[in-house]
Amino acid sequence: MKVKKVPLRKCIVCQNMYPKKELLRVVRTPDDQILIDQSGRAAGRGTYVCRQESCLTPDTFAAGKWKKVLERALNTSISQEQYEEFRTTWMEMMGR
Ligand SMILES: [Zn+2]
Repeated sequence: MKVKKVPLRKCIVCQNMYPKKELLRVVRTPDDQILIDQSGRAAGRGTYVCRQESCLTPDTFAAGKWKKVLERALNTSISQEQYEEFRTTWMEMMGR
């Protein structure tokens, strides 16, 4: 029996590798929106974040770390407005 290889992706916050399906995908769409891609199939440049508390906490957001991390990972500059929008969606998703 062939063992199926699990695709690994790197969390942009903690830099650890995880199976793709355990990560959250964050995508920059062709019209420059920053989205949390819940389908995993949105068009655009995607990056991944793991579900560890430390990678998802509001403290991490508050430190402004997220914006920098995302900008680097998506190779783009993110406006404060885009970021706030993304952050709001994220917080709702995390139920905070
Ligand atoms: Zn992580």
